[in-house]
Amino acid sequence: MSNGATHRLTSGVGVGLTFALQEYNETGELSAKPLVAGSIASILGSLPDLVEPATNPHHRQFFHSYAFAIILGGVTYQIYKWEPESTLQDIIRFLLLVASGAYLIHLLYDSQTPRGLPIIGKL
Ligand SMILES: [Zn+2]
Repeated sequence: MSNGATHRLTSGVGVGLTFALQEYNETGELSAKPLVAGSIASILGSLPDLVEPATNPHHRQFFHSYAFAIILGGVTYQIYKWEPESTLQDIIRFLLLVASGAYLIHLLYDSQTPRGLPIIGKL
């Protein structure tokens, strides 16, 4: 069942673990950053359903589509490669990665439901 609680849990755990693995691979240590990332991601886990509210069985359109997931994945990769030059840019990069990670995990989870995702959907 795909509901708000499931999206918050999967987004929080998925983003938190991703940040933990990345940090551990780079430094061999863990800070509180993955926990903060997972907490913010769990808050943002239902973001796609705020953009396209689940008011009917056909609510999944462009912002719930494979096309949007591919575009967002590409943008997320560019954000990942971005090398911030200030603390503010570092915070912005962190928040964008958390938000896009939560969004993509939501779409991944929705894609595994019986209704799945549209290829493009309507705008
Ligand atoms: Zn959804």
